[in-house]
Order: sequence, then C-alpha cells, then structure tokens
Amino acid sequence: MHHFSVSIVGAGIGGLQAALALAKDGHQITVFESTKEFLEVGAGIRVPPNSSRLSLSWGVDLDSLVKEVSCGNRFVDWKGNNLLDCSFDDVQARYGAPYYFIHRADLIDALVQAVKQNPSIKLLMDTRIEEYDFDKPSLKTSARWHEFDLVVCADGIKSATRNTINGRPLDPVDTGDVAYRILVPVEPLLADPETEHLVKNPWATHWIGPEAHAVGYSLRGGTLYNIIIDVTHATDKGTPIGLDEWRSEADNTHLIERFKDWCKPVRKMCELTGTYLKWKLADFDQLDRWIHPSGKVVLLGDACHPMMPYMAQGAAQATEDAATLAAALRYYDTISLALHAYEKQRRPRAAYVARNTRVLQQWWHLHDGPERDRRDQLMQEDSKENPM
Ligand code: FAD
Repeated sequence: MHHFSVSIVGAGIGGLQAALALAKDGHQITVFESTKEFLEVGAGIRVPPNSSRLSLSWGVDLDSLVKEVSCGNRFVDWKGNNLLDCSFDDVQARYGAPYYFIHRADLIDALVQAVKQNPSIKLLMDTRIEEYDFDKPSLKTSARWHEFDLVVCADGIKSATRNTINGRPLDPVDTGDVAYRILVPVEPLLADPETEHLVKNPWATHWIGPEAHAVGYSLRGGTLYNIIIDVTHATDKGTPIGLDEWRSEADNTHLIERFKDWCKPVRKMCELTGTYLKWKLADFDQLDRWIHPSGKVVLLGDACHPMMPYMAQGAAQATEDAATLAAALRYYDTISLALHAYEKQRRPRAAYVARNTRVLQQWWHLHDGPERDRRDQLMQEDSKENPM
C-alpha cells in the first residue's frame, strides 16, 4: 500500500473523521481549520450505528461520553395519542453498533483528542486556505504554498471549492424547512408529571404533524434535554440561500402560537426558553462530480452532500465518506483510481440518503386526512413486523 501526504481542508466532523481514517492506514495528514477554536453550537447530535461503528474502530472514545446508551427513535402523532413506530427501538441489537446521543461539543472534543494522540496528524487551527492550485495540488496560507499528494476538501456546506471541482455552479437552496434548536436543563420537564418521562426515555421521541415535527432526547446522562423543532415555511422553497441568513436567533412567541394545538410535551418544549437558534435547512441535487479533473482533489461531507437532518445522517454520511476514501486508497494503485472508486461508491449513496430526507419532509408533515391515516397505518404495521 502507498502512503501519501494528504491535506484536509476543514476540521468539522467530516474532516476530523477523514484524518483519523486515513492516518490509520499510515498516510501523513495535515488538517487546516480556519477558526481559532472549536465553537460548536450548544446542541445534541445523534451518532447512528453506521457512523459509531467506524468512529469506534478509529479509536474515538465515544463510550466514556455517554452515560447511558440510547436505543434509537420513536414516532408519535402530533396529538400525542398514538405510538406510530418503535421498530428502531433497539438499534444495537439490530445493527450491532450503538446509537449515541451526544452533545456536539463532546463529540468534537473526542474527535480532537483522538486526532491529537495520533502522531501522523497535524491539526492547524486558525489557518485559512486562501487559494488553491488544484493541479499540483497545493494550498496557500498566509503567503505560503503547501504541496501535497492529495487534497480533501471537507469545507462544509458553504464550500469555496465545490463549484470549481464540480465544473459548474451548484449552490445550496432553501428546502422550505427551518429547524429551531435548543438545549435545556431537565428540571422543568422533570417537575411536570406529563413530561418527566421524556427525560428518562432512552430514545429520541419524534412528534409528527401538519407541516412540522419536533424531536426531543436526553443528553449527558439525563442532565440536558435536546430539542429540535422543524417547521415548513414553504414560501422560500427552492430559492438560493444567502450565507448570512443561515443561522440566527428567534424568540419563541410564534412557536407557542404555531404549536398551541399540539400535545403537551411539544407545547412545553416551545415554552421552555425564550430564545431558539434558528437554522434554515438547505440542500441541493447531486453534484456532477466530486473529483477535480487533476485527479488529486476531492470533496467530502457537507461540501458535497448537504442534507436535511431528518435521518440524523449528515455527519454519519461524512463518516462513511471517510471510511470509503481510506479503503479506496488501500485497494487502488494510484490516487486518481482510488478517488474514482470513492466517488462511484459514495455519490449515489449520499444522494439516496439526501433524497430520503426529502421524502420524510413530506411524509412526516402530512395534514390530517386519508393520506395521513394510511401513513400511520403503514408505520404501525412496520412497527409490528419489526418489533424490538
Ligand atoms: P462542517 O461542520 O461545516 O465543517 C467544515 C469546516 O471547514 C468548518 O469548521 C470551517 O470552518 C472549515 N473551513 C471552511 N473553509 C475553510 C478554509 N478555506 N480553510 C480552512 N478551513 C475551512 N448529522 C448527523 O449525523 N446526526 C445528527 O443528529 C444531525 N443533526 C443535525 C441537526 C441539524 C439541525 C442540522 C442543521 C444538521 C444536523 N446534522 C446531523 C448534520 C451535521 O451537522 C453535518 O452534516 C456535519 O456537521 C457536516 O460536517 P462537515 O465536516 O462536512 O462540515
């Protein structure tokens, strides 16, 4: 197996996982990250088994972060009357790897610790890539060029390299959905007999209803509760999304009004805090290519497949990218062949998952009526056929 000098642009979850996967095979890795320090939002992230299995194999210490392993996802109707699906109640038994619910800051910490302990990885914070020579390939930081055998662009949904690599512009568009996120102490939920069980549930509950859904789960051994409320604002759907309007703060007044007819837990979740982080959810159709024609620069993670969070798969797909890229470099003689194998494997898979999140956007957000009844029936049948 050849050993290469690899540069990774971006130390998000995708870039860090790629560094670990590639270093495990003996490649020399330099990760460039423009931010000074990791300032992850105060929110949870779900690490499903397709991703946890890989991270654990690269030596990321996830177990010590999670006091109780969660068991998956449950779905309830918006009035809170019917359990629609609990077929993903015990993911470990079904998929042979844990389903973690983790504070984002903890996950980044665990990845950074694993990276720092690896002598084959150099992590350069506060170092922005200002210019690219895609043919060499080399990267410019503060008037200095650095040359590598391979450059992996894990520079996120706002990637500056994507359009050059793709050969035509393709920018993220508004999906029509907005996510409101907040992480709250559990005491107010525990104090209310109608919501105290939520904190103790080892699963993420999804309440699904007309043009919206809410998700809640406990973190850090039941000391924090993570809330995501997704609402369709279809008016902006399909329009290009501006870089500045991605993330903002929103007060909860309109959430209280919007969810006033929903079940008690969802109403309570809207009332728990005055301010929510508001994210416009964006994605795009499949890129034409993930590899620059030089055959030495490639995309990974949100840079090439941003998706809605409805399957908790954005970072998980970046993790699959990392594993596939490492495997391709192991099995092929040249970087160019390896990159083409990587792209062939990953591009349709990531597009499939992203499209499924679009399907869930429609499926979960149905209004009451015959279509919704049919959906509920199908979910309940599936749950019975695959009981855990
Ligand atoms: P990013 O995290 O965006 O990292 C890119 C990095 O590149 C940044 O640190 C940036 O500073 C750096 N960078 C950019 N340009 C340069 C440059 N020129 N020089 C140096 N550095 C540069 N996924 C899951 O798997 N599970 C979940 O439960 C989940 N929940 C989600 C909930 C919400 C509401 C949202 C919005 C997303 C969710 N996701 C989830 C998706 C997940 O957060 C993303 O897919 C993932 O974080 C993307 O990682 P990344 O490394 O590809 O990109």
